[in-house]
Amino acid sequence: MNATMYLSQKPEATAADILSYEQILDVLPHPILLVRFDGVIIYANQASQAMLEAVVGKDVYQLFPSFSPRIVTDADHSTHLIVSKDGRSFEATPEFVSDGIILLDLRRLLNGPVGTASRDRDELTGLMNRQALLSRMSRTLGQGGACRPIAVHCLDLDRFKMVNDTLGHVVGDLLLKKVAGRLQSACGGGDAIARIGGDEFVILQHDVTDEATAAKLASRIVDIVGRTYVIHSHTINIGVSVGVAIETEASQACNLLRNGELALSEAKTDRGRYCIFQPGMDTCLIQRREIEVDLRRAVALKQFKLNYQPFVDVLTNEVAGFEALLRWEHPAKGFIPPLTFIPVAEETGLITKIGDWVMRTACEEAVSWPGEVIVAVNVSPLQFRAHTLLQTVASALERSGLPAHRLEIEITEGALLDDTEKVVQTLNALRDLGVKISMDDFGTGYSSLSYLQKFPFDKIKIDRSFVAVDSEDSAAILKSIATLGNSLGMAITAEGVETTEQLARVRSERCTHVQGYLTGRPMGANQIPSFFTQLG
Ligand code: C2E
Ligand code: CA
Ligand code: CA
Repeated sequence: MNATMYLSQKPEATAADILSYEQILDVLPHPILLVRFDGVIIYANQASQAMLEAVVGKDVYQLFPSFSPRIVTDADHSTHLIVSKDGRSFEATPEFVSDGIILLDLRRLLNGPVGTASRDRDELTGLMNRQALLSRMSRTLGQGGACRPIAVHCLDLDRFKMVNDTLGHVVGDLLLKKVAGRLQSACGGGDAIARIGGDEFVILQHDVTDEATAAKLASRIVDIVGRTYVIHSHTINIGVSVGVAIETEASQACNLLRNGELALSEAKTDRGRYCIFQPGMDTCLIQRREIEVDLRRAVALKQFKLNYQPFVDVLTNEVAGFEALLRWEHPAKGFIPPLTFIPVAEETGLITKIGDWVMRTACEEAVSWPGEVIVAVNVSPLQFRAHTLLQTVASALERSGLPAHRLEIEITEGALLDDTEKVVQTLNALRDLGVKISMDDFGTGYSSLSYLQKFPFDKIKIDRSFVAVDSEDSAAILKSIATLGNSLGMAITAEGVETTEQLARVRSERCTHVQGYLTGRPMGANQIPSFFTQLG
């Protein structure tokens, strides 16, 4: 055969212009079938005709009744599982899927499922692996809707990484095996247990009569997995978070797993507990994604601005400074509060870029304020982790010409939670520049007090929850923090002061500054000159 025979005259010819797919498939040595999604075989190439006669037009389900294949397609046409009746399965990654036609290698059908016991199993624990779990789920869910709801429990071990890092992989592996054993003892015989990743497990619970049945298993898991382990004479305590999704109707395995994982991320915010999926979690996640996308553009599109809220010296009644508060005016959604978008900015790492902008802008705007008035800037713990904070602050001061002693940095306990030594180094370097450092939201964290010993803060800001509530407890807390601050020579700001009664209380406890709606609401930079004139 002369190759030039096939040269096409068409300028952008493709193989399909010259050869039909039948011709292409016929020259292949592999036996190939084309099957429509309804199961009808619409084409068999020559290699397959040598193995099986006259299959075109027949139903693939009837032709291979021994394992009665069924084709499951994801919404995005990504995964195609051929599931067999005897419960074993294999993944027929089709070489070719188009317009509802799937290309199958006939040998797979003739030889039966290629999935063997070892391919379905996790080597370490002997539990099912992800693939086996997915096919089990597809089967259960696909059978015209489970007559009884099934529940998916997504598990993630808390502190497993720490065990692995400190005690080594051998202990880590043994721990995973023990966890697997405990899960088996916690579950019923009909439930399927899988390990789908390092320390991630999934349990498929059958015969769930109501939510309470699922909740009961989830809480048993939290309890049993959370009990102490002894491995190689080490006493180990870990926990587990569980996300549960319950399904009553036929649904796709991937959706159910996704819901379970959503519930898991909710459970993980508090660790060592279970959480059942609620439809709202879905929208929450979608909203977060939208915010993330928009946030990426917000700096460039100049959608951010800063508001400034005054803090007042209690003794002199003079404005000592302003705290810069970030504002995002979204073109379509309007004002989005910082407590909504800052966590997203932190999760995505965008906070460093945004934080740089805040620092630069606050210094530039504050330089024109009268006298020694201070600007206080909030700095996220993540900005400390990025290790560029010192550079950001130094260059903001230099570019704006603001003297360092007029800048105050507010940090929360979160900044001191990890790698404390490195953070303290950065704080000292900032202090050397002449910048003041205050501890924000004092009293809301776990160990605020212990951090006061680690670094000599210039100021403590008492969280507004202690100011707002007029109870014996909060009065006592206010008093003790103020006494402590005074004895350490730190300034103390009471936040969220809204009423004259609160102001009187704060004053009597010897706080040095107040900040709140009573003494001034956050305002735009352009309102500051007239604010001073009014005070006049
Ligand atoms: P924060 O640092 O504790 O800031 C004080 C918050 O309390 C501000 O809310 C302020 O408007 C509000 N507030 C002030 N006085 C009163 C009062 O009398 N009553 C009540 N109910 N609230 C009062 P905002 O602006 O919504 O900021 C919330 C949080 O967002 C801030 O809490 C801070 O953690 C964070 N944030 C704001 N701007 C930035 C920023 O530029 N960078 C970073 N990393 N975080 C920021
Ligand atoms: Ca603050
Ligand atoms: Ca605060």
